[in-house]
Amino acid sequence: MSQKKTNYLNADVELEESTPAVKKKSKKKQNKTLNTVKHVLGVIGTTFLSLFMIVIITCCIVAVTLTVYIMQFADSAFDVDLKNVDLSYTSFIYAKNSAGEQVEIKRLSGDENRIWVNMEQIPKHTQDAFTAVEDKRFYEHEGVDWKRTVRVTISTLFNGYGEGGSTITQQLVKNITGDDRVTPERKIREIFRALNLEKQYTKIDILEAYLNRVPLGGTVYGVGSAAYYYFGKTVDQLTIAESAILAGMTRSPSVLNPYANLERSKERQLYALKCMYEQGLITTDEYEAAKTEQVKFRLIVEGDAYGYKDPRYDEYYGNNANKDENSDGYDDEDTYEAYRWNEYEITQNWYVDAAIQQVIEDLSKAKGMTYAEAKADLYKGGYKIYLNMDMDIQEKLETFFKDPNNFFYSYDKTAIEENCAQAAFVLTDYRGNVVALAGGIGDKPGDGCFNRATQAILPIGSTMKPISVYGQAVDKDVINYSSMILDKCITLPEGTSWPSNFEGDYGSGGYIPAWYAVQQSKNTTAVRMAQVLGIDTCFNFLTDKLNVTTLDYTYDKAYSPIALGQLTQGMTLMELAGAYQIFGSGGVYYEPKLYNLITDYNDKTVIEQEPLGDRVMESDSAYITNRLLKAVTDTTNGSGRYAKIDGIEVVGKTGTSNDERVLAFAGLTADYCGVIRLGFDDNKNIGTTNYIYLAQVWHNFMVNVVNEDSTKTFAKDSNVVEKKYCTETGLLATSKCKNTAVGYYKADNLPKTCDSTHKDGEYVKKHGGETLLVPDWGTQKAEEDTSSTSSN
Ligand SMILES: [Zn+2]
Repeated sequence: MSQKKTNYLNADVELEESTPAVKKKSKKKQNKTLNTVKHVLGVIGTTFLSLFMIVIITCCIVAVTLTVYIMQFADSAFDVDLKNVDLSYTSFIYAKNSAGEQVEIKRLSGDENRIWVNMEQIPKHTQDAFTAVEDKRFYEHEGVDWKRTVRVTISTLFNGYGEGGSTITQQLVKNITGDDRVTPERKIREIFRALNLEKQYTKIDILEAYLNRVPLGGTVYGVGSAAYYYFGKTVDQLTIAESAILAGMTRSPSVLNPYANLERSKERQLYALKCMYEQGLITTDEYEAAKTEQVKFRLIVEGDAYGYKDPRYDEYYGNNANKDENSDGYDDEDTYEAYRWNEYEITQNWYVDAAIQQVIEDLSKAKGMTYAEAKADLYKGGYKIYLNMDMDIQEKLETFFKDPNNFFYSYDKTAIEENCAQAAFVLTDYRGNVVALAGGIGDKPGDGCFNRATQAILPIGSTMKPISVYGQAVDKDVINYSSMILDKCITLPEGTSWPSNFEGDYGSGGYIPAWYAVQQSKNTTAVRMAQVLGIDTCFNFLTDKLNVTTLDYTYDKAYSPIALGQLTQGMTLMELAGAYQIFGSGGVYYEPKLYNLITDYNDKTVIEQEPLGDRVMESDSAYITNRLLKAVTDTTNGSGRYAKIDGIEVVGKTGTSNDERVLAFAGLTADYCGVIRLGFDDNKNIGTTNYIYLAQVWHNFMVNVVNEDSTKTFAKDSNVVEKKYCTETGLLATSKCKNTAVGYYKADNLPKTCDSTHKDGEYVKKHGGETLLVPDWGTQKAEEDTSSTSSN
């Protein structure tokens, strides 16, 4: 090309140089016509020459300008780094199965749904499908397919549009930089970056990065998450037919994916297969087989363009009674969508719901983010979250709660079915690990729905008494196991008698032993204990030691909330479980935890939750309180007697809010602490105080949890001794005491020994001026019960 131009240019120059000679000849009056012709030719020549020079100069200027212009983009070519790109990754949730193995149970993904897969995991035919469709000279070019670029540029210039001439390398650059403006500058910059990328990385690196970043419909990015999203598979399981579907949609994934448009997706799949076949990447047999392969989609896909028809399609459309012939086959698109998502997308159990919320809150604290930011971070951070959930027990609990019939022991059937009374359950071990939880009776309405185990704040009734009052009274040596407490209401400043007991009486006026006061859940004695301890002591123990966050700092600092559990708002069931753990852990409080570890996508620890507990009471005090709770379940007349399990020690406490708003039961075995509560979400009256049957519900579930490996009894505290006490005075018995039973005492703080005179008023303790612990056998009721206890 340049050779031709040079010759022409030389000829031109010769012509110009010869011009003066021609003029001289004309002065010699030669042929005028010839002169005229020569003159005209000369003018034309000069003009042409001038024009040509202008073109050349312009070209030079343009070329220089363009070179300078392009060189500035060359600098920015070095800012693409495959090893350090801000990817958005899918997060995973794991839990242990019955064999103790970590099992993936949930994936979280937000705007970009991405699962990183290594090249070795991606089948060759999947790789080939993408190169065949998108960049057939991928392995030959150096980042840019010039032939195609020129063709596309010309086609764009003349037709105003062009096919995507980008190589896989260029597309990768576009994906990584997020620079997708349609301008010549971007294209030039992209070309330089692509060329540069090819110098720095191998084809394998580039294709791997591309296959992990390529948008494949909606929030799905990369073949790893697409394999799961469309086919419910891992990437290594993708067939040729499936790979062709993915490769076929890359041009316009939002409209060419099978969920968006099945027919167009099928067309693109066939096109991709044809490309693969023509490029010799698959055999004739493979080609023919892939064209007709029955592809099974994870979500329902209408029609049978892929030879597969989900049987549930028929089930849902049934007789097609309302089918509109002119529509796409659905009489109600919304219903169809709802069906589809309900059926397939609600895969998250109550535990996972609660765990996600806790993780977001913790990430937000750890990283100084708002809740919304932390949530977004969780869904794209590629975290791995290891739950404390016991999959086996959780599954049993979910099954148990799914069936409303399991709750009719405690409650009237219509109330549950028609009025939607609800219940929740939290089961923990004694290291703060939440083993299982359920947030509602019946079918779970959706992912992340209202969770009564962690979110409902309701009263807890008498389950309050041991955690606020009796445990503290034992720990502060106000009472021991058999201390005598006055069963008598107090007189309020305005002169009224308060409180009454559950049975409606204002107390016998006599003295009852501590274990009996707990067993019968006497309101009178609980209020008297709170009086001795002081409201602030009880309140602060709940808020500061047991981490109860929902108390009202004004209205809950009173006897009724503190001693009887009639809280202004209430507590969450999770907090109640945490509080009761101390009676099985030897007085160490562990905040209930749903997970133990969060790592990032490089498996680096983000949050690790060590089971570090806080000692909130002495271990002997915790064990003695545990024995008080045993009186509730392990006697024939205890309020929690239905919770008893054959061969397994159970201790616990019932609860009823006195205005019939909730029923509650906290039950402990040597391995687990389980709390259950029944009530309405809006805290209205449930119309019953039949507390004892909720212990039965607890029992009916817990018998599924215990087995031959379960610990049979609570470990005895080393500082606690079993001693015979005199049932008349509550003091250590002598041979002269007629009625005795066995009690549990701190070895270094034993009660005095009964002097066997059994006189009134002999062992008086004074607290705030009021006589409390006076042996007074005006009533013999307690004595009878004592003897029944001693046989247990
Ligand atoms: Zn005695």
